[in-house]
Amino acid sequence: MQIRQFFLGGKWTDSSPRKIQLDLNPVDGSTIAQVHQAQESDVDRAIQLALKAQAIWREQGPSVRESMLLNVASILERRTEDIAAVLVKEAGCNLGNGMYNVFHSVGDLRAKAGDCRRICGETIPTESAGAISLTLREPLGVVAAIAPFNFPFVLASVKVSSALATGNAVILKPSEYTPISALLLAEAYDEAGLPEGLLSVLPGGNDVGRALVNHKDIKLVAFTGSSRTGKSIAQSAAASLKRVCLELGGVNPLIIMDDVDMEYAIDTAVFGAFNHQGQVCMASSKILIHESIHDAFVEKLIERTQSLKVGDPSQADTVIGPLISQDSVLAVHAAVQKAEEAGASIACGGQYEGACYQPTILINVHQDMPIFHEEVFGPVLTVTPFSDIGEAVSLANNSDYGLSSAVLTNDINKAMLVARKIDAGMVHINGTTVQCEPQAPFGGVKMSGLGRESTKGYIDQMTEIKWVTIASQPSEYPF
Ligand code: NAD
Repeated sequence: MQIRQFFLGGKWTDSSPRKIQLDLNPVDGSTIAQVHQAQESDVDRAIQLALKAQAIWREQGPSVRESMLLNVASILERRTEDIAAVLVKEAGCNLGNGMYNVFHSVGDLRAKAGDCRRICGETIPTESAGAISLTLREPLGVVAAIAPFNFPFVLASVKVSSALATGNAVILKPSEYTPISALLLAEAYDEAGLPEGLLSVLPGGNDVGRALVNHKDIKLVAFTGSSRTGKSIAQSAAASLKRVCLELGGVNPLIIMDDVDMEYAIDTAVFGAFNHQGQVCMASSKILIHESIHDAFVEKLIERTQSLKVGDPSQADTVIGPLISQDSVLAVHAAVQKAEEAGASIACGGQYEGACYQPTILINVHQDMPIFHEEVFGPVLTVTPFSDIGEAVSLANNSDYGLSSAVLTNDINKAMLVARKIDAGMVHINGTTVQCEPQAPFGGVKMSGLGRESTKGYIDQMTEIKWVTIASQPSEYPF
């Protein structure tokens, strides 16, 4: 049995007192490894080491940070298949999804490496003759990164790269379901020679997350996870006016107009809703379709959905693998049953075997039903008809969430109207709701989050602006 230590300030460490958690393969519950768990005392040790290391790191020239990130990118690229294989076992994703986690991380690391030379202050016009007025952009210090289970590698990697590129140190807490992928990330930084103390990876439970959020020396909590946890983190962080960047849940509408290519609409809906068993924050769980093509669409959608192979994700042709835990299966099933009780009809699916939930289509879904508003986080989509574009936008916006959205139509004017009117951080015209690129601003509005994880957004979040003036002559004061 593999036993994994955690990464405390650059040293591979056993838990003390000993605390081990089994890392399980969600498809059959078999044990992949035993993982030493960090505890609250480790959080403070990691932060003390980080403070020392960051004091040096912040003074390094951009080329040092740039080459570190480029080295890690190359190491990950070399290890893509190993890491993807671990993700298949640990996160229950298929191999393509596992590879995506690594490819995106590599692209992000290279984009961030380029940013290192462009993290700039600015000069500002001033009323004081001859004076210079400027801003310095300074790192915050030590950043906490808290990651979810669903895309555990890439979402951890993006936070770590953002922190290090901007001159910060970072403590990462992975999900209790997916510790090993985060430890593989630590291995890559270790191999690349990251100075000790700059990165700790502390697998553990919510207590470790809470200790990080509440620690006085953490300056920013970069969190991806559920809206419920995000809200609680924001409340805790408010006590010390700590910064938060929150990437949270979503119920993402896919609007399908009456002029679309039906096959493409089906492909877009099926991929958007069922990719990684629907355990995707951007999943197209809310299909809004023009009433004139509703019946034909539903008929074909059922046919395609029933053709998706469900089962062990290590088999190449499996599309729908397991949910992360039996608790998730029961929660998804409860949501489907509640929807049926409220008057929705199960057009297909609605059953499970072990951890695998059948891809499920709910029709006759109206906006007064809970299922229309809930993030189910499983392979479940709802279909609701609309009569015109105004109703489509109103149905899309009837949500506490506002992460991603998409509209399919050949009419660019209608598409742009939707793009302008929709309350979401991201709108994709003639594409899926599930899109992410290192150079594009990723994030949501309303209960879907606060802040943007890519582009300049992360630089603003992870640095402090300081205004500096240099007088060229003595000031004349009024008294
Ligand atoms: P979760 O909120 O249950 O847990 C996320 C992380 O927070 C875990 O590491 C967990 O241990 C930690 N945590 C839990 N309680 C905490 C607390 N009180 N203080 C500090 N840390 C705490 O989320 P999950 O089930 O792992 O992930 C699924 C959710 O994440 C979904 O809602 C999904 O939409 C969302 N998500 C959002 C994005 C995005 O970019 N917007 C991406 C992926 C997932």
